[in-house]
This record gives sequence, C-alpha cells and structure tokens, in this order.
Amino acid sequence: MLLPEGTKFVDSDGFEICVSCHEKAEPPVLFSTHVDQRIGYIEGCGQTCVNTKLCQERREKRQKFNK
Ligand SMILES: [Zn+2]
Repeated sequence: MLLPEGTKFVDSDGFEICVSCHEKAEPPVLFSTHVDQRIGYIEGCGQTCVNTKLCQERREKRQKFNK
C-alpha cells in the first residue's frame, strides 16, 4: 500500500497501520484509541501487530515483492 507523503500510519478507514509490516494492524486498532488502551503499541515507534505470526508472514511477502 502506498501512503501519500506526510500521511501517518493510518489506513483510509481510520485504522492504524502496523509499522513493522505496513499493513493494517492485526487485530485492527482504531486511530482514535488512546495509546494506554492499545496492545501492540510501541512508544516512539507506533502500532504493531499483536498477531506476530501474521505480521511475520506479511513482512516475508513484502520482501518477496521487493525483489
Ligand atoms: Zn504487522
């Protein structure tokens, strides 16, 4: 997915994008959710997937596409 310049890691429907796999975090987290109420949020970094297995698979898929 290509995000316009200056766009934060937020999907067009208001869900956080995982900073690790660059897809919608799994499970999805709404942008409006306070960071204290989130799981998988890394301070100073951003939202990541709690489903690390899926996240890993997505990262591997991205690497294949980038070859
Ligand atoms: Zn992820």
